[in-house]
Amino acid sequence: VKVLLTGGSGFIAAHIVDILLQHGFETVVTVRSEEKGDHIIKAHPEAKEKLSYVIVKDVAKDGAFDEAVKSNPPFDYVLHTASPFHFNVQDPVKDFLDPAIKGTTGILKAVKAYAPTVKRVVITSSFAAIVNPKQPPEVYSEKVWNPVTWEEAMDHSQVYRASKTFAEKAAWDFVEKEKPNFDLATINPPLVFGPVVPYLNSLEAINTSNQRFRDLIQGAMKEKLAPTGNFLWVDVRDVALAHVKAIEVSEAGGERFFITAGFFSNKKIADIARETHPEFEEKLPPADSVDDSPNTYGYDNSKSQKVLGLEYRSLERTVKDTIDSLVVIGV
Ligand code: NDP
Repeated sequence: VKVLLTGGSGFIAAHIVDILLQHGFETVVTVRSEEKGDHIIKAHPEAKEKLSYVIVKDVAKDGAFDEAVKSNPPFDYVLHTASPFHFNVQDPVKDFLDPAIKGTTGILKAVKAYAPTVKRVVITSSFAAIVNPKQPPEVYSEKVWNPVTWEEAMDHSQVYRASKTFAEKAAWDFVEKEKPNFDLATINPPLVFGPVVPYLNSLEAINTSNQRFRDLIQGAMKEKLAPTGNFLWVDVRDVALAHVKAIEVSEAGGERFFITAGFFSNKKIADIARETHPEFEEKLPPADSVDDSPNTYGYDNSKSQKVLGLEYRSLERTVKDTIDSLVVIGV
């Protein structure tokens, strides 16, 4: 069984590759350069002929995926993770909205036109497409949608969330209107923490959602804890498994999955780090720092447990493993 995984050089995708290979899938990743592709292949000597890459330089380009989706033997499933996630906004449309939205519609169009054997496409959406900061519901679940508008998306602090919202909407609209050969599932995680991937990361280039761990153990919050921001989180290994389960479980077709392990705060991470890595004690914020967790809303992750069979890792486990992985790359 053969899978195309876009954005193979990403943090979440790297963990998806591990699980796809463990579960016996033949895996082809898209990357932007040969150098990145070669890194990935080299890191998986066990995969032999089961892992390869194709180059897709810019997912926002028309027809970007037209060649990548053609394969022999042909693909059975497609996982689309490639989308910009950082806070360096210059041009909201060019940097975020185009690659997110056109990348998503582009892969769906390409699969429809050139990959008739594909049965399902799984898209990495986000809690960003669910969250409603102005009017939080009592309980966040798959039923909730971010009400952000195109105008609001021009605000640099909102454009990432907007890009994920519009991209996911475009995907559901596509399958409804085009009635393609495949069905769709989306995976909607909040902040994703967990082991950084040594062959992709360096001290300077830690993926966006793990940067607070580096900052914490380097002493950036020693004087004062940074505000937590968003309080829901999930471990990257659970997110990766959710993607693979979404192709393995037939009932996942046509479904949106909110994937979260629950609440965290920077204070809770610091408290756990103090226990698991006492050697960083003097870099950590004071033990009596104030916890800013508001917990003013609830969350319902029961669908992911029922349909995909997920069992979420604990914050303790994730904090320990994430810091261990940073130590390996030299933080
Ligand atoms: P990374 O930044 O590690 O991965 C993003 C991937 O997308 C990289 O492979 C990157 O390629 C690729 N990419 C971005 N823009 C383009 C483009 N224009 N053309 C081709 N490739 C592109 O982030 P994550 O692994 O964290 O994110 C993966 C997905 O998960 C994204 O869709 C993100 O929105 C979503 N997500 C992430 C969360 C998190 O907390 N990490 C939370 C919820 C959702 P390159 O490396 O070459 O730049």
